[in-house]
Amino acid sequence: MPYNCIVLVKQVPDTAHITGQAMKEDGTVNRAALPAIFNPEDLNALEMALQVRERHGGRVTVLTMGPPRAAEILREALYRGADQVILLSDKRFAGSDTLATSYALKCAVEHVGDYDIVFCGRQAIDGDTAQVGPQVAEKLGIPQITYAESIEALEAQYIVAWRAFPRGREKVRCSLPCLLTVVGSANQPRPPSARRMMAYKLAATPLEYAALLEQYNEFESAAALDAYLAERGLQIPLWDADDVGADTTWLGLGGSPTKVLKVDFVVVERQESKELPATGEGTTILVRELIDEYIL
Ligand SMILES: Cc1cc2nc3c(=O)[nH]c(=O)nc-3n(C[C@H](O)[C@H](O)[C@H](O)COP(=O)(O)OP(=O)(O)OC[C@H]3O[C@@H](n4cnc5c(N)ncnc54)[C@H](O)[C@@H]3O)c2cc1C
Repeated sequence: MPYNCIVLVKQVPDTAHITGQAMKEDGTVNRAALPAIFNPEDLNALEMALQVRERHGGRVTVLTMGPPRAAEILREALYRGADQVILLSDKRFAGSDTLATSYALKCAVEHVGDYDIVFCGRQAIDGDTAQVGPQVAEKLGIPQITYAESIEALEAQYIVAWRAFPRGREKVRCSLPCLLTVVGSANQPRPPSARRMMAYKLAATPLEYAALLEQYNEFESAAALDAYLAERGLQIPLWDADDVGADTTWLGLGGSPTKVLKVDFVVVERQESKELPATGEGTTILVRELIDEYIL
């Protein structure tokens, strides 16, 4: 039986390569100053959805809420195998905390409609709350399986999945439709396919048309470019708050009860260190010390 999967993905600052001023004075992340990447666990979520489609059939739709630039990860999702991608972008989403973000995403998922499984990453590496997936499930009124590592079985009405924790695993079964938040140990995400990169390199949202027209002067107008992309299935739909029927009082700063009062920077300082010889004797000393410190 085919399953329709929606994968929620987020473009995040590459927190492993921070340079310059990472935070703004108002306590929000200075995204413009940071390189942007596909949130790592969202790649695992996408891979799990692609594997469901390969085994059972169906469609994989990838959805992100973000600024115009977030279309970059949607193209990456197409290169990796997604059937359809959608950008949810609107100035009225700006400043949304997890409550407002999950509300906007819930509206968008309902607007896609006809879904069996919603996949999320467990956690985004910037906001780091791991709240969005569970909140979207709650707002959609569907069950959720957090920390999902693998799917053991999918039957018409239910899913059996393994959840992974630092100290063990748990097998759970729940009814469909449901939402899964996927952990990094779930799989090895497939790389972008060279063939699909050639096919989808021009895929664009209307917000990117001006840049494309500048780059490729064979298109006389935005309308000509639009017709070219439509013919080849390369238009990335752009949805705003009205398109998904969102109540704007629940969006943006106004719809966000969380207030960032202060951000502290943690400076990890080098502590006392000891050099041991790389010999059997050195190893013995190290093991003895670890036992004495109750680490081993
Ligand atoms: C007061 C306040 C103002 C903020 N203002 C801004 C702002 O102006 N701009 C800004 O970018 N952030 C802003 N943030 C941060 C924003 O709230 C979070 O980045 C966002 O809600 C996601 O939370 P998270 O990063 O903890 O995601 P998690 O809960 O850790 O993410 C879990 C999973 O949910 C899914 N997911 C999360 N976010 C998205 C998304 N946007 N689209 C699709 N799927 C998603 C992904 O699958 C992800 O792996 C603000 C936060 C606060 C508290």
